[in-house]
Amino acid sequence: MAELLEMPTDWTRALAIVAHPDDMEYGAASAVAAWTAEGREVAYLMVSRGEAGIDTLTPAECAPLREAEQIASAAVVGVDQVEFLDHPDGVIEGGVPLRRDLAAAIRRHRPELIVTLNPREHFRPGGWNSADHRAVGEAVLDAAVDAGNRWIFPEQLDGDLEPWPGVRWVALAASPQATHAVDTTETMETGIASLLEHRTYITALTDVDPETYAREFLANFATASGERFGTRYATTFELITLAG
Ligand SMILES: [Zn+2]
Repeated sequence: MAELLEMPTDWTRALAIVAHPDDMEYGAASAVAAWTAEGREVAYLMVSRGEAGIDTLTPAECAPLREAEQIASAAVVGVDQVEFLDHPDGVIEGGVPLRRDLAAAIRRHRPELIVTLNPREHFRPGGWNSADHRAVGEAVLDAAVDAGNRWIFPEQLDGDLEPWPGVRWVALAASPQATHAVDTTETMETGIASLLEHRTYITALTDVDPETYAREFLANFATASGERFGTRYATTFELITLAG
């Protein structure tokens, strides 16, 4: 496998845009903890409230629980801005309406770096990625460019918003084609604590003790990534550099 490069460090604001509560916590949050510890600003935008994520709870019961768990989880890694769009969990549609919502958020937050979850067909060979992850990731990549063009979604610019052509990179977490990595040796425990905040979700997902589950899942991936990156633990990203 190719060598993993250091992530760029010449940025101050990142926006993470993912389909569901918990998408950031399966690895990326350990990197977020490293960034916020360095004084960088990171905000989260959830495209859905994850309301279809727990078999035993109706969406109406589930949405507020998952929202609260996501807010608590973000706080653990130093993120205090968590926003939710109300696209329907499980059947998020890519395309222009989603790009419009994401472009508006990007114009408000003005990030240099956007983080999203792997939109490719697989996380690893033999698996299949979810429809929501594929739709959201692709829309994020498109909206990162839309946000800079004043003639795309121009109605958003009638008030205080300005075009934001400043997104320099989109980092795809958990990509099978990772190119870059962040040393998460110092923030692994924070990342585990962040995943553990999704306690209702994890308890419904597995009979394994939640702490054991979170620790083993994150440490296994981070160890394998760290072996490639030359650190004890690492989080990898596929970094897409946008044309200026
Ligand atoms: Zn997800």
